Amino acid sequence: MYFNPDTLAFVDGEFIKAEVAQVSAYAQSLHYGYAVFEGIRAYATPAGTRIFKAGEHYERLHYSCRSIGLPFGYSVEELTAITYQLLEKNGLADAYIRPLVYAGAPNMTLKHASSSNLLVAVWDWGKYLGEQSLRLSISPYQRPNPLAVPIEAKVSGHYVNSIIASSEARSRGFDEALLLDMNGYVAEGPGANFFFEQGGELFTAPQGSILRGITRNTIIELAREAGIRVTEKFFTPDELQGATGAFFTGTAAEVVGIAAIDELEFRTPFAETLGARLAESYRALVTGETDQKARHAELVEAFLPRK
Ligand code: PMP
Repeated sequence: MYFNPDTLAFVDGEFIKAEVAQVSAYAQSLHYGYAVFEGIRAYATPAGTRIFKAGEHYERLHYSCRSIGLPFGYSVEELTAITYQLLEKNGLADAYIRPLVYAGAPNMTLKHASSSNLLVAVWDWGKYLGEQSLRLSISPYQRPNPLAVPIEAKVSGHYVNSIIASSEARSRGFDEALLLDMNGYVAEGPGANFFFEQGGELFTAPQGSILRGITRNTIIELAREAGIRVTEKFFTPDELQGATGAFFTGTAAEVVGIAAIDELEFRTPFAETLGARLAESYRALVTGETDQKARHAELVEAFLPRK
């Protein structure tokens, strides 16, 4: 599903067959989850393949490396150029992009690595959580304590929390989990940010125990441009009783509606909510159908590969 015998991946400066990419059994990343990654999407647009917010994703990758003391030498511009080349070599326009910076050298210590490796993989991936509105359940697992790990960094090890929370919700027949933070406030999903709608306004968790997603920021901007008020605040699951709708946002999931959270069913169909309107605006933005705002166009142009 992710690769076939012809698929190329970028590994440490070379485009190689994905099926021969290897990692040492003694790699520090493999043993301790000491690695960082990104999830990015490229879209076919009228102007050709465009990586959505490549600059912001690769800046976050740098931030994640710094957060865990992983040395990393590639610039944002180099990473963006490599990604465009990789998409072209694999004949992909609409694609999911997974850069991973890992400590691949044999090293069983608990010290910062002195070097790192880079893998960039690309594949064709539909909306991660599907098209249908989701039935969520509040997870018995909390988001990791931000005083224990740099929660705003996309660190591989953090995703053990995501895997167990998501699997636990699915084992009880739900589509996905909704996680609370250490204080009992609603934080986010295992791989997506959460918004709810009430009285024609949107609410989402603030900085604290969440990854402030790039899709989340985009949705906040699109909403504000459309005159919709967005408030970042802490809220408990009880406060969701008055909500009329909710949705998840994330690069892989894009914008996906939520039909229910445990016993709470939203009566308004997702298609009639602000979330659905924003999902349309988001799609139009990423696929280049809307008149892109000058700053967005600039951002995209700034990170095109240098010929
Ligand atoms: N929260 C978590 C825990 C995630 O893994 C993701 C996906 N990167 C998101 C939120 C959404 O972030 P983004 O919109 O930047 O993809």
